Amino acid sequence: MSLFNICILKEVDSLDQKASAKNLEKWIEELDQFNQTPGNGTTRPVYTKEDMEARRYVRDLMSSVGLEVTEDNAGNLFGVLPGEDPSLDPVWTGSHIDTVPNGGKYDGIAGVFAGIEALRMIKESGAPHKRNLSVNVYSGEEMSRFGVCCIGSRAISGRLHLEDLKAHSEPSGKSLYEALKDAGYQPDSFDQEFPCKTPVYASLELHIEQNDVLEKAELPVGIVTGICAPTNLVVEVFGVQSHAGGTSMTARRDAYMAAAEISLLLERLALESDSMYITGTVGEMALEPNAANVIPGHVTFSVDIRSVALEDKDALLEKFFSGIKEIEERRKVRVTTEMMNHDKAVICDKHIVELAREVATDLDIPVMDIVSGPYHDSLMLGDITNVGMIFVPSKDGISHNKAEWTSIEDIARGTDILANTLLKLANEA
Ligand SMILES: [Zn+2]
Repeated sequence: MSLFNICILKEVDSLDQKASAKNLEKWIEELDQFNQTPGNGTTRPVYTKEDMEARRYVRDLMSSVGLEVTEDNAGNLFGVLPGEDPSLDPVWTGSHIDTVPNGGKYDGIAGVFAGIEALRMIKESGAPHKRNLSVNVYSGEEMSRFGVCCIGSRAISGRLHLEDLKAHSEPSGKSLYEALKDAGYQPDSFDQEFPCKTPVYASLELHIEQNDVLEKAELPVGIVTGICAPTNLVVEVFGVQSHAGGTSMTARRDAYMAAAEISLLLERLALESDSMYITGTVGEMALEPNAANVIPGHVTFSVDIRSVALEDKDALLEKFFSGIKEIEERRKVRVTTEMMNHDKAVICDKHIVELAREVATDLDIPVMDIVSGPYHDSLMLGDITNVGMIFVPSKDGISHNKAEWTSIEDIARGTDILANTLLKLANEA
């Protein structure tokens, strides 16, 4: 092989420039002006005025770095850098810009700007690539406004239909359908437009970790091997409501104490599981009648179980249900469980994981494999393409909070890995 050939190969294989921390910092700070709660975290619910203004900012930025911008009727934005052979299936990156109430300015946003910076680097370095590259903004990843998560990526994957848009409403009563109309979209064509008709070659999303594994390991980047999916149950305990003073301890059929024991059972099973990663959470509980001097007769609570392995969740659930039976009999209460969803996790594509690891080694960036506890748009995209994710550390593992913080240098290192991995994927036959 001649030196000329080696040079050409090098040009195709890796970028001659590094991600600009300055760009990333500027864009993240500027986007934060579109915020309902300045000074008290970032609040930008999907399809609100602030969200629409933030989209305009991102559109303009995409155009200014030379991307071709399009939008669909879920409000998903696509900033495309055309490849040499646009007939090949494209490679996607991107994330979301909506936030939870009083959330942070990095969750989702870091991934959108990392994607724009990556495509800017690829374009400016003149690196040839066969496939189109697209950085996407997926609408409404957070479920806080309409009670449904990943609106944009869910539509793309075919898991959201016109009837669902009418069924999901915010607390004020406005439906998702109406909010889309108000924002200028045409939701009536939803079922014709989605699922996305374009086959996608691969998708690679950068996101903040929202946990403290990378920080504890003192590493700037994690390569995600799997994204946990939730299993959600609603549990109801029926006991006997009675007087807190008049009912002796042995005569009680206390619905709350049974619910508490079931909650602790869930914690113990998750702790004792030999799963690579599993969590069990009781996040919501309602006591009836909820009075200080009355033994609760009825308790309703939520159960959230997450893992990358469906079989590990199944194994935990089996023990959970048999434990509930034992508690039910011993405490003389009645327990019902309703399974709301039992989703299968996404295992990241081995090839993408391998490629990202190789890129990290070439760039001399230390990385580790990591599992994502939270879901992301990539969980939905796993239905239609091979997915991968890159994590950057969250200070103290905090997210969905105004204290959320990630170092720009770490986002830039993640962007270097993102850009070079995207380029390799875009040059695959
Ligand atoms: Zn997010």
